[in-house]
Parts: sequence; structure tokens; C-alpha cells
Amino acid sequence: MAELKKGPFRITNTLSRTKEEFKPLNPPHVGLYVCGPTVYSDVHLGNVRTFTTFDLLYRWLTHLGYKVRYVRNITDVGHLVGDVDEGEDKIAKRARLEQLEPMEIVQKYTNGFHDVMRLFNILSPSIEPTATGHLIEQIGMVARIIEAGYGYEVNGSVYFDVPKFAGKHAYGELSGRRIDELVANTRDTEGMDEKRSPLDFAIWKKADPVHLMKWPSPWGEGFPGWHLECSAMSTKYLGRTFDIHGGGMDLKFPHHECEIAQSIAADGQAPVRYWMHGNMLTVNGRKMAKSEGNGFTPEELITGNHKLLERGYSPMTVRFFMLQCHYASTLDFSNTALQAAEKGLERLMAAMDVLDKLKPSAAPDAAQDAAVNALAQRAYDAMNDDLNSPVMIAELFEGVRLINSANDGKVALGATAIDALKRLFNAMVFDVLGLRREAAVAADDTALDGLVQVFIQMRTEAKARKDFAASDRIRDQLLALGIVLKDTKEGTTWARA
Ligand code: AMP
Ligand code: ZN
Repeated sequence: MAELKKGPFRITNTLSRTKEEFKPLNPPHVGLYVCGPTVYSDVHLGNVRTFTTFDLLYRWLTHLGYKVRYVRNITDVGHLVGDVDEGEDKIAKRARLEQLEPMEIVQKYTNGFHDVMRLFNILSPSIEPTATGHLIEQIGMVARIIEAGYGYEVNGSVYFDVPKFAGKHAYGELSGRRIDELVANTRDTEGMDEKRSPLDFAIWKKADPVHLMKWPSPWGEGFPGWHLECSAMSTKYLGRTFDIHGGGMDLKFPHHECEIAQSIAADGQAPVRYWMHGNMLTVNGRKMAKSEGNGFTPEELITGNHKLLERGYSPMTVRFFMLQCHYASTLDFSNTALQAAEKGLERLMAAMDVLDKLKPSAAPDAAQDAAVNALAQRAYDAMNDDLNSPVMIAELFEGVRLINSANDGKVALGATAIDALKRLFNAMVFDVLGLRREAAVAADDTALDGLVQVFIQMRTEAKARKDFAASDRIRDQLLALGIVLKDTKEGTTWARA
């Protein structure tokens, strides 16, 4: 079989809403920036969906041979409660509630985020910059915005002048909003003693004396506005105009709209060639969110310990459930769909086991070589068509039927067809979909218990020497293998997930 054809990669350009061929400036390099988490609480499954979407993109581009510089930030300052311009910082609030330093909160939930990423086999980015690590770049950008005439200072805070910007440049194009409608719909009077227009947003905020997270600046002690960090860090690492910027759909407005305005104001050029937004994970049609009480954590998902869950599900079942839906569609959580995904994944993995052992037929049907080629081409075409993973997975299930028929002696596959199927399945299932085999837990629980006890002992020792990173890692790695540890007064016990 000829080498599988790769590319061209097409992606929805949400600015023009047309599909265009993806042409990075300097092939084979691609710059990809994805808005990361605000590290003030445990991530929920909705967040996992968005990071899985961009993991799929990263894996696909890499598989096609692009060299991707993937930047995914950590928001550790500037994101205020309620996503507004006044009030308490989400991290500072959490620090107050947990009676910890803000940076202890940042470290704790960054560690937790990384554990969850590992659990779902989501690859690490090439660079993971933090907002607090890029104050100089952000202050520089505020200064450039002021110099260009689009920022004004009031009482130590600096605001972006949206109406002035919109008078000269497009504002609202990404999210399809019009400035007059925005004005008509704004009831918000928050910050209006300082803002010239309710549409303006803070790019630098003066910190009150009790504020813990503040830095010196030309405008006094303060902290950066939420939208600013992504503009400063994406362009620092990827250039003033880079290839792809991603994030959840809920970030399109105002976060990404403001990023575009900031870059154009500061540097005179639109920062992003292609915007890509992952759609939301919903529960009974409502966005999964911490504040809604419908956002369960990965740990609850695995143990089944949540009122929405009939039972626990493995991380790879959940990953497969997500990837069976196109990233641009909403995905509604349901136990029925997860159970169907679990069965589908088992069928897929079982077929791969069969394929591994499949012997070429002595009298192969040459027509099957062409059929496998065509199937592989359809799978690649689906992924090249705006990352259509559900169609690609449907093609893999065509392959599963063929493998099972060959195993039953109903179809005669030769070595060429079998090799092509192996290449296709290994590439798509492991490299691109990022699925991995979940260790089958030994049938004999006695032997298993002996092993788990060794790990429990190691974890207890790690805790005793206050190496919580190590103790958490042991817990999470066991969890990934389907073993849940429970800390009780009597000591640590374990159960199957
Ligand atoms: P946050 O930590 O709230 O800033 O969110 C991190 C990422 O998760 C952002 O890209 C959000 O758009 C995304 N996100 C939040 N809720 C959901 C959801 N229910 N479904 C999918 N993505 C979400
Ligand atoms: Zn961002």
C-alpha cells in the first residue's frame, strides 16, 4: 500500500467563517496558543473537554509532521470573581478561604491540574507560562496601548478605550457582536466611576492596600487585567501574528475579542490567523460549571461518587466519549452515552488485539488492499476536515468489522492490507486519539492487594517526609490503573474504580 496521504490540514477560520486551507507562515512550524486554567480550584470535566480538544489538535498537527510550539498558560493572577473588572481575585479569595498564601493555592491547583492532564493522557505543552512570571511583558503592553492612544489611566488603574478603538478598527468581529448592540445591552455600571464607557475593560488595576497580589508599575502598585496576560504571553513566544489560538467557546467574548483589540492597539497587527473554539460539555443542556453544582471532578467520575453518576467510568472511556463528538458541537453528559462509549472502546481495543495476531490469508483478496487504502484515506480526510474525529472513529469501526470478518474467515486479507490496518490503527488510536490501554486489573485480588499495599506503604512514607508531590503522584497513578485509595482514620484502604 502506498504511504498514507497526509494533509492538507483545514480548519474553520471563525473570523471569516469560511473553511480555508491551513498554511502556517513558515511550514513545517506551527504556533499554537491555548488559554489554560485559572488555578484556584479543581478542574472539572468540562475543562477536561476543552483541553482534550486542543490535545487532539496538537497530536494531529504533530502526526502530520508539523513542528508545533504549543503554549498553554496558567492564569495565576488577574482573573477576578465573576470575570469582571471589580472585586476579588479568584486566587486571593481561595487563599483567604483556605488560609494559605496565594502562591500556595497556585501551586496546589497547578499540581492538581497536571495530575488530571496525565490521567486523561493529555500531552504537556511546549511552554506553560504563568501570568505572574510575565509582569514586565504585560506592563510593557499596557504602556504601548497608552502610547497608541487606546488606554487611559484613572487613579492608578488603566482602561482600554473600546469606543475609540472601534472607531478605527473592527471590534466584535470574532464573536459577531456589534458595538451599538453592546452599548444597548450593557446595564453594567461596575467601575463606571472610572471608566469612560461601560464597554471599556481594565488592562491594569490599582491594588488596594490589603491586596496580596500586587506589583509596582508606572501607574502605582497593581495587577494586570485578565485579558492582558494571554496577549502578552502568546505574542512573546509565538510572534506578533501566530497561527492558531484556542480556548473554550465561552472565552470568545469578551476574553478573545479583547485580546485582538489589545494586540492591534499595542502592536498594530491582528495577533491570530485562525481561532478555534471548543464547545461546551453540558449536563441536561446546561454548561458544566463549578458554580452550577453540576461539575464533577475526574476523581468523582472514576469512583462514581457523585449524584449524577450511576457508576464510575475509566479515564479512557471518558476521553473516547468526548472524541466521538465533534469539538465544535456541544456534548451533553449522560450515563447512557458513557456506557456506550465504554462498549465501543472495548470493541476497538479487542479488534486491535485480533489484528495483532491476524495471519495473512494464503489466498488474499487483492480488492481488499484497495478497500483498506480507501478506508484509511477517508479517516485522514475526516481529520483534515476541521478535525472531524467522530467521522474518523466511524471509519475505524469499518476497519473493526473488516478485522473481525477476516478473523472469522469471511474475508481474505493479505499481508499488505493487514500492515496498512496496523499502521492506521496504531496511528489513529494511540498517537492521534491519545487512547491508551487501561491495565486490566489482575483477577486475583489477593496478589493485587499485596502489590497495592507496597504502594500504600511508599505513599505513607512520602507523606511522613512531607513529600506531598510524591504521595499525590502515587495516588493518581494508581487511580489511572483503576485503583482508588481511600484515607480513613484506620489508615489507607483501596478499592477498584
Ligand atoms: P477556566 O479555568 O474557568 O478559565 O477554564 C479553563 C478552560 O475550560 C477554558 O478554556 C474554558 O472555556 C473551558 N471550560 C469551562 N467550562 C467548560 C465546559 N462546561 N465545557 C467545556 N469547556 C469548558
Ligand atoms: Zn486567555
